[in-house]
Amino acid sequence: MRFDIMTLFPDFVSSILGESIIGRAQKSGAITVKAHNIRDYSKDKHRRVDDTPYGGGKGMLMMAPPIYDCYQSIREEYPQAESRHVVYMSPRGRVLNQNIARELSSYDHLIVLCGHYEGVDSRIIEEIVDEEISIGDFVLTGGELPACILVDAVARLVDGVLADPECHEKESFSSGLLEYPQYTRPVEFHGKKVPDVLLSGHHANIEQWRYEQSVEITKRLRPELLEKQ
Ligand code: SAM
Repeated sequence: MRFDIMTLFPDFVSSILGESIIGRAQKSGAITVKAHNIRDYSKDKHRRVDDTPYGGGKGMLMMAPPIYDCYQSIREEYPQAESRHVVYMSPRGRVLNQNIARELSSYDHLIVLCGHYEGVDSRIIEEIVDEEISIGDFVLTGGELPACILVDAVARLVDGVLADPECHEKESFSSGLLEYPQYTRPVEFHGKKVPDVLLSGHHANIEQWRYEQSVEITKRLRPELLEKQ
């Protein structure tokens, strides 16, 4: 799967997504992630990409033409995409969750637009964006962190990104429940022992205990998830 991110801060995005599991997945070729500087597509001699909003109001808006040219250049770089989806990171979008991440992981090509300042000219949304996605009901200064969160959540569902694909099948949200508690060495820490069942080697009992813990934790922390089931 290929991810292209349109941003004013490509180094910021590349440095976050160049680390750890997502970084290794790029090196192994499981995914391709490329950040593009929208400013490179400005026709202005000062490389300006923003202007004041028509009708007045505070702040600046990102102009449509450089974003559009950046988008076209990405499409030309990857014309063979089997399926493509364009997302604008925006606080007014659909709020990201595991189902949406799963849905997006089925595309071959995801293009992500990061806004800055007061956002982008609405015409670029009409012209190129398939959907707006938010990472929560709060406002950040830019779409770069949301884009990194989206790419991370989607990329780890792509084959070959996680060493063991079963990892995400058993995680929080995958079954509609939150994850059970996990423990590693030492067996005792600050007087707290790992539950006996996990040391028993009895797989059926361990599975049962984990399921009960998941239900209990979901009931306590996110009861609305149980209601949805
Ligand atoms: N004026 C916009 C509004 O009221 O909806 C907010 C613009 S915000 C300051 C600048 C950019 O940050 C947005 O264009 C968007 O790309 C990004 N952003 C901010 N909060 C976000 C969120 N919760 N989810 C996704 N993107 C967000």
